[in-house]
Amino acid sequence: MKKILVIFGTRPEAIKLAPIIINSRKWKSKIKLKVCITAQHREMLDQVLKFFDIKPDYDLNLMTKNQTLSCFSSRSLIKVSNLLNQLSPDYIMIQGDTTTSFISSLAAFYNKIKIIHIEAGLRTYNKYSPFPEEINRVLISHIADYHFAPTEIAKKNLLKEGINKNVFVVGNTIVDALNMTLDIIKNKGEGKYLNFFNFLNFSKKIILVTAHRRESFGEGISNICEAIKIIATNRNDVEIVYPVHLNPNIRNVVIDELKNFKNVFLIEPLEYSYFIWLMSKSYLILTDSGGVQEEVAALKKPCIIMRELTERIEVVKAGIGKIVGTDVGRIVREVNNLLDSKLSYSNISKIKNPYGDGNSSLLILEKLLN
Ligand code: UDP
Repeated sequence: MKKILVIFGTRPEAIKLAPIIINSRKWKSKIKLKVCITAQHREMLDQVLKFFDIKPDYDLNLMTKNQTLSCFSSRSLIKVSNLLNQLSPDYIMIQGDTTTSFISSLAAFYNKIKIIHIEAGLRTYNKYSPFPEEINRVLISHIADYHFAPTEIAKKNLLKEGINKNVFVVGNTIVDALNMTLDIIKNKGEGKYLNFFNFLNFSKKIILVTAHRRESFGEGISNICEAIKIIATNRNDVEIVYPVHLNPNIRNVVIDELKNFKNVFLIEPLEYSYFIWLMSKSYLILTDSGGVQEEVAALKKPCIIMRELTERIEVVKAGIGKIVGTDVGRIVREVNNLLDSKLSYSNISKIKNPYGDGNSSLLILEKLLN
């Protein structure tokens, strides 16, 4: 019997770990998997837990108002360490590159507990972009014992750093989560989604926006808002929907700048299945999010990446995503290009998803059981 403690703290980690947690129930006699949340982000994490019906065994409830990275890191290092001491799991499982993932790995290392890293090997090679995630994931890779890389590119990144033991390419579990969600939507019917989004005119082209990264605070988010204003003003064939992240550095600017446009809808962060449904109905996606770049690859939606660098280079290579940074002119130009060019849009629908078919969680569990 392998005792695994899964530790996470934010929405994207919960989404990507949910398929592993749910599927592990099939091997109850072989894997004893417990869930601990740090609640680095409270509300948006809870939405995902509720949707996937995951009840954490341990809730450290560490989020504070306006928390700094240092404060959150120091408090969680002690709390996670104490829990590891108390439970002595054989492994911890962490996902991606959040501060929760890095600090939990450090706590596990100090307690000589093995670390399983899901979504290993993503790199931009710029230590401040994304910040602090690039350094979090580099450090995690050097102390983890199992590295589940989503793609061959991610594996190569690890090999370049001398990490060559227990590296497995398995795709990205976000595809599993997405497929599970699309099945739920199909089974329950689309009625409640159509009802919820009844303020949108789906005969127009829907542009879905998400932006929340630390690198975009300040000038970046102001530029993004400026570009949205220009598009909203010049194009009456689009409706722009923006579920606004709860971070006040983003939220205050976005609401101030965009609240008075009749074809811009600023809404609260959406529960996962509503977001996926809306993405599936959208014409194009504007984003700085990591997870969303992977989801557009699965849903075959063109995506404009409002960042200077991406660690999801597969999306760009496949021709699904284009990096435009936060330059106003470039964002507007690329959006207009996509809106007006049927050719580039239809090409995208034929592309193979570089993140796999949605069986990553099973591949990971099978490897761990061997
Ligand atoms: N997402 C969501 N509701 C929203 C916006 C995004 O459920 O209103 C999901 C989205 O489907 C993706 C994840 O949140 O799976 C991305 O999270 P985020 O952008 O916060 O983090 P990142 O992926 O950039 O680390």
